[in-house]
Amino acid sequence: MGKKQEQKKKTLKIKIILFLVICAIVLVTLPFSGLIENKINSKRTENIGDFATLIEKDCVVHVIDVGCADCIALELPDGKKGLVDGGVYISSKVKSTYQQNSVNYIKQYVFDGNENGTFDFVVMTHPDADHYNNYELIFDTFQINKVYRPPVFYNKDDDAQTQKEIQRAKDAGLMDGSETAFDENTFYTIDTKLFSKCLDKMYSEPGCEIVFTLAPTTADIVSSDALKPYTIRFYGPRHTCYPTKSYNNNNSFSALMTLEYKGHSIMLTGDTTKEEEKDVMDACDLPEVDVLKVAHHGSNTSSSVAFLNKIKPKYALISTRTDTNKYNLPKQEIIDRIISCGVSEDNILQTQKSGNLVFAIDSDDMYIGATTEVVVKTIKWWYVCAGVIVASGAFIFGVKIKTSKRK
Ligand SMILES: [Zn+2]
Repeated sequence: MGKKQEQKKKTLKIKIILFLVICAIVLVTLPFSGLIENKINSKRTENIGDFATLIEKDCVVHVIDVGCADCIALELPDGKKGLVDGGVYISSKVKSTYQQNSVNYIKQYVFDGNENGTFDFVVMTHPDADHYNNYELIFDTFQINKVYRPPVFYNKDDDAQTQKEIQRAKDAGLMDGSETAFDENTFYTIDTKLFSKCLDKMYSEPGCEIVFTLAPTTADIVSSDALKPYTIRFYGPRHTCYPTKSYNNNNSFSALMTLEYKGHSIMLTGDTTKEEEKDVMDACDLPEVDVLKVAHHGSNTSSSVAFLNKIKPKYALISTRTDTNKYNLPKQEIIDRIISCGVSEDNILQTQKSGNLVFAIDSDDMYIGATTEVVVKTIKWWYVCAGVIVASGAFIFGVKIKTSKRK
């Protein structure tokens, strides 16, 4: 009898310890709820109302949610499609999810379900991985007819790619015929494998024309439909930065461009710097715009007061996700600056808060807006934790109830 009771006590003790261990393990995960929820809740539901209406407009700009990176698709009034950048957040943990999601988004919303659509042009604003590290999948999936590349070159000793790049610089008139290497004082070059691979991909795309973005010589992209005239104009990088001026930052070579249709416009910026902003403002008269895609994910390297006061945006779109970037972008300082330059707080939209952002202009120039997809959290991690605790408790102690019933 005493032995049996002792045995029961012992069993109960083991069960209690086991239960407490399970509780402890579960509770330890609670501080990481946000991260876990982001991982398991990748499903999104569209905000059908406004989103569905806006994507049917004449001119649509999709700032696709790719974490702290840029991938912006354009649906133009004459039916042309464009892509500005094509990167995703560089972390290996979430990279492939963002890569596939952004391509799926393009298939579904830009090409209306067509698996292999054609981009009339792709603009690579500058060769930072978060702006082009999805080009392999993008070039494999879609036909690309034209690429605007920045005047930043691949350069590595004795590399065949470097020789090709020198020839390309010569062909574009950026180097005279006699030079055999890139002069470091004149050319900004990088030697990353990813960029070399990307160049191979771009230059081997069948039927694809590749041009350098060098304002103001780079021609505007204009409508082929006289009834629906739009203009995409390149303001930067300036032609004067080559070969007479060399920036010390790849971001300063970012394509700075506007899309204007029926009196409404958006400015796209890549990761342009204050230095480039100043050079562009010194060289030309920048127009006022309705919407600004904030440069460099809201970093304080960009968006100077002078620049914001010049272009006077009413909306600001920021492509970022704070939990996937160590730089903690966007900087509050920049949000405050954008507000102090006249954008209301409600008109600053971030992909991390609202998912994919859309800016649309109607052919009757009556409508301008931005709307988003909503991220629906389908599973709350603490629900899972509570469930595990209740279920494990019921299982562990439930066995006891059954055995005591038998007695
Ligand atoms: Zn970037």
